[in-house]
Amino acid sequence: MSSVLDYRHCPQCKFEQADFEFNCRTSEEYLQCRMCGYCEYVDRETDSEGKVSFKHRVIRGAGALLYRRKGAIGYCARYLATQEEVSEAAQWLSEKLAAGEVRPSSAYLSRWNKETPSVELVIGRLYEFSNYDPDDENPEPNGPNDLRPFQLIEMIRHLRVRYSCDHILDGRIVLLHEQPEPKFEQVFETALPCLSCLPKSLDEIGRLGQYQEFRQSRTELWEYRFPQAKDGRVMPAFNHPKTLQEAASLFYLAHPDRKRFFPDSESAFRHQLHGLPDKENVVTFFYAEPDGTRGIIAVSDFVLELFNGVEGFTPKLRKQGFTEVLKLDPQEIDAAKEKVSYAPGDWGGSWKNVYPWQRTSWQAKS
Ligand SMILES: [Zn+2]
Ligand SMILES: [Zn+2]
Repeated sequence: MSSVLDYRHCPQCKFEQADFEFNCRTSEEYLQCRMCGYCEYVDRETDSEGKVSFKHRVIRGAGALLYRRKGAIGYCARYLATQEEVSEAAQWLSEKLAAGEVRPSSAYLSRWNKETPSVELVIGRLYEFSNYDPDDENPEPNGPNDLRPFQLIEMIRHLRVRYSCDHILDGRIVLLHEQPEPKFEQVFETALPCLSCLPKSLDEIGRLGQYQEFRQSRTELWEYRFPQAKDGRVMPAFNHPKTLQEAASLFYLAHPDRKRFFPDSESAFRHQLHGLPDKENVVTFFYAEPDGTRGIIAVSDFVLELFNGVEGFTPKLRKQGFTEVLKLDPQEIDAAKEKVSYAPGDWGGSWKNVYPWQRTSWQAKS
């Protein structure tokens, strides 16, 4: 590790937990006060002859802005040097709070009053990082591109969670596509207090009145919100869908502008989830009948190309046991759906390499 992080006394407002960092490699250091905005830097400078010198800068703080974006796990701090910057920050923060882009519990803006001399809070209240942040009670997307609300639950597993109060309790974890299974003995961490300790935490931040509300929204279900972080941290789970149909209806509800594909056309739906524009998200539909049942098969462009297009794919479907095979133009789909509704097979949807009856005939032969 090349840096030492610590807390120091702020020379301006006397706040005891101003952030201090010393870089052992370069000997640079900084001190930043998220109470009053005071900053002090020691920067390393190398001149053209390679001679090293250190420059000491002090910025008399005018205020500090701290906030956490919606869905983000970390907090941003800005140290303001002038009263103009404080006024601009006040405008910015109230707009972001009103638009719901910043989480309200932790956000604050302070102003350093030289005359008194003391810190005044312009918006919010001083947030300590060790505090319980009630915003964590509510699962929310990471941002506009977050697909997790639409992701299917692949597995639900038992887990043990260590709450911020150090109590360890049982729970269940929702595992989404490609998320690792927890190890049997692993204890996960959450920044929330357990239900028995929740009143105390709410009391500390003056929001005891919200106990019932938070108690009701508490879930036994957890999920990896930041699977790339390897610290075993879990967050309250979204209400993830269990079926593709459910996921599709959630998706179309959130994106009414997107072109609708068959909810059971898994490949098309997954393409949409990953943000491909509809025109690139091409799926070809075939009407088909094997043994008197009817259905519609969706084939992605990728698969179609593997079989040299519609000309090559039609014989492939016949070989798989489909008697009547018809490529559908988009305007023919509704009529075909109606035709299917008289004798629907349970095999419709995305094209499969092997259909159930193929397996049977193979077993019968061998
Ligand atoms: Zn300070
Ligand atoms: Zn507890």
